[in-house]
Amino acid sequence: MKIALVAHDRKKDELVNFMIAYEIIFSKHQLYATGTSGKRIMEQTNLQIHRFQSGPLGGDQQIGAMVAENELDLIIFFRDPLTAQPHEPDIIALLRLCDVYGIPVATNVATAEILVKAMEKGDFAWREVVHKYKGE
Ligand code: PGA
Repeated sequence: MKIALVAHDRKKDELVNFMIAYEIIFSKHQLYATGTSGKRIMEQTNLQIHRFQSGPLGGDQQIGAMVAENELDLIIFFRDPLTAQPHEPDIIALLRLCDVYGIPVATNVATAEILVKAMEKGDFAWREVVHKYKGE
Protein backbone atom coordinates (compact mmCIF):
# COMPACT_ATOMS: atom_id res chain seq x y z
CA MET A 1 0.00 0.00 0.00
CA LYS A 2 1.02 3.57 -0.62
CA ILE A 3 0.70 5.68 2.51
CA ALA A 4 1.13 9.44 2.92
CA LEU A 5 2.16 11.03 6.22
CA VAL A 6 1.75 14.65 7.26
CA ALA A 7 1.87 16.38 10.63
CA HIS A 8 1.59 20.04 11.49
CA ASP A 9 4.40 21.39 13.66
CA ARG A 10 2.75 20.86 17.04
CA LYS A 11 1.74 17.34 16.00
CA LYS A 12 5.09 16.17 14.66
CA ASP A 13 6.23 14.50 17.89
CA GLU A 14 2.95 12.61 17.98
CA LEU A 15 3.43 11.40 14.41
CA VAL A 16 7.04 10.37 15.04
CA ASN A 17 6.01 8.40 18.14
CA PHE A 18 3.20 6.78 16.17
CA MET A 19 5.61 5.76 13.41
CA ILE A 20 8.05 4.33 15.96
CA ALA A 21 5.24 2.32 17.55
CA TYR A 22 4.10 0.85 14.23
CA GLU A 23 7.44 0.84 12.41
CA ILE A 24 7.31 -2.88 11.66
CA ILE A 25 3.95 -2.51 9.94
CA PHE A 26 4.94 0.64 8.05
CA SER A 27 8.18 -0.93 6.85
CA LYS A 28 6.11 -3.21 4.57
CA HIS A 29 4.59 -0.28 2.67
CA GLN A 30 5.60 2.55 0.35
CA LEU A 31 5.71 5.76 2.32
CA TYR A 32 5.36 9.39 1.24
CA ALA A 33 5.40 12.52 3.38
CA THR A 34 5.61 16.27 3.36
CA GLY A 35 9.18 17.52 3.72
CA THR A 36 9.71 18.14 7.41
CA SER A 37 7.41 15.38 8.64
CA GLY A 38 9.27 12.88 6.44
CA LYS A 39 12.65 14.14 7.61
CA ARG A 40 11.69 13.84 11.28
CA ILE A 41 10.37 10.29 10.81
CA MET A 42 13.47 9.17 8.89
CA GLU A 43 15.75 10.63 11.57
CA GLN A 44 14.05 8.61 14.28
CA THR A 45 13.18 5.35 12.52
CA ASN A 46 14.71 3.14 9.84
CA LEU A 47 11.82 3.85 7.48
CA GLN A 48 12.50 5.04 3.94
CA ILE A 49 10.15 7.82 2.86
CA HIS A 50 9.71 9.70 -0.39
CA ARG A 51 9.63 13.33 0.71
CA PHE A 52 7.63 16.01 -1.06
CA GLN A 53 7.88 19.75 -0.49
CA SER A 54 7.13 21.06 2.96
CA GLY A 55 3.39 21.54 3.46
CA PRO A 56 3.30 25.34 3.21
CA LEU A 57 5.43 25.15 0.04
CA GLY A 58 3.11 22.77 -1.81
CA GLY A 59 3.59 19.37 -0.17
CA ASP A 60 -0.10 18.92 0.56
CA GLN A 61 -0.88 19.67 -3.07
CA GLN A 62 1.69 17.11 -4.24
CA ILE A 63 0.01 14.51 -2.05
CA GLY A 64 -3.33 15.72 -3.41
CA ALA A 65 -2.08 15.11 -6.94
CA MET A 66 -1.40 11.47 -6.02
CA VAL A 67 -4.90 11.19 -4.56
CA ALA A 68 -6.33 12.63 -7.79
CA GLU A 69 -4.59 9.80 -9.67
CA ASN A 70 -6.07 7.35 -7.13
CA GLU A 71 -2.51 6.35 -6.24
CA LEU A 72 -2.61 6.65 -2.46
CA ASP A 73 -4.29 4.03 -0.28
CA LEU A 74 -4.14 5.71 3.12
CA ILE A 75 -3.35 9.16 4.48
CA ILE A 76 -2.31 9.90 8.02
CA PHE A 77 -2.59 13.62 8.52
CA PHE A 78 -2.16 14.84 12.07
CA ARG A 79 -3.67 18.29 11.83
CA ASP A 80 -3.27 20.96 14.46
CA PRO A 81 -6.81 22.21 15.04
CA LEU A 82 -5.65 24.99 17.37
CA THR A 83 -3.20 26.87 15.17
CA ALA A 84 -3.93 28.86 12.01
CA GLN A 85 -2.00 27.47 9.02
CA PRO A 86 -0.87 29.69 6.12
CA HIS A 87 -1.70 26.88 3.70
CA GLU A 88 -5.20 26.18 5.03
CA PRO A 89 -6.67 26.15 1.47
CA ASP A 90 -4.24 23.35 0.52
CA ILE A 91 -5.22 21.33 3.60
CA ILE A 92 -8.92 21.66 2.81
CA ALA A 93 -8.24 20.76 -0.82
CA LEU A 94 -6.38 17.60 0.19
CA LEU A 95 -9.13 16.46 2.54
CA ARG A 96 -11.74 17.24 -0.12
CA LEU A 97 -9.91 15.06 -2.65
CA CYS A 98 -9.78 12.22 -0.12
CA ASP A 99 -13.58 12.42 0.03
CA VAL A 100 -13.86 12.65 -3.75
CA TYR A 101 -11.85 9.45 -4.20
CA GLY A 102 -12.92 7.67 -1.02
CA ILE A 103 -9.41 7.46 0.38
CA PRO A 104 -9.13 6.50 4.08
CA VAL A 105 -7.70 9.47 5.96
CA ALA A 106 -6.94 9.78 9.67
CA THR A 107 -6.65 13.28 11.11
CA ASN A 108 -5.87 12.20 14.67
CA VAL A 109 -3.95 9.44 16.40
CA ALA A 110 -7.03 7.53 17.60
CA THR A 111 -8.33 7.09 14.05
CA ALA A 112 -4.86 6.41 12.68
CA GLU A 113 -4.42 3.55 15.12
CA ILE A 114 -7.70 1.95 14.04
CA LEU A 115 -6.85 2.32 10.35
CA VAL A 116 -3.34 0.88 10.71
CA LYS A 117 -4.70 -2.14 12.58
CA ALA A 118 -7.39 -2.58 9.92
CA MET A 119 -4.75 -2.36 7.20
CA GLU A 120 -2.66 -5.02 8.93
CA LYS A 121 -5.73 -7.28 9.11
CA GLY A 122 -6.22 -6.93 5.35
CA ASP A 123 -9.32 -4.74 5.51
CA PHE A 124 -8.00 -2.54 2.70
CA ALA A 125 -7.85 -5.34 0.16
CA TRP A 126 -10.46 -3.42 -1.84
CA ARG A 127 -7.73 -0.96 -2.73
CA GLU A 128 -6.02 -3.77 -4.69
CA VAL A 129 -9.16 -3.95 -6.81
CA VAL A 130 -8.94 -0.21 -7.51
CA HIS A 131 -5.32 -0.64 -8.65
CA LYS A 132 -6.24 -3.68 -10.74
CA TYR A 133 -8.91 -1.70 -12.61
CA LYS A 134 -6.39 1.04 -13.19
CA GLY A 135 -4.14 -1.59 -14.76
CA GLU A 136 -1.37 -1.32 -12.15
P1 PGA B 1 5.96 19.65 6.81
O1 PGA B 1 4.55 20.02 6.22
O2 PGA B 1 5.93 18.18 7.08
O3 PGA B 1 6.94 19.99 5.74
O4 PGA B 1 6.13 20.45 8.05
C1 PGA B 1 3.41 19.70 6.94
C2 PGA B 1 2.54 20.88 7.08
O5 PGA B 1 2.81 21.73 7.91
O6 PGA B 1 1.52 20.96 6.34
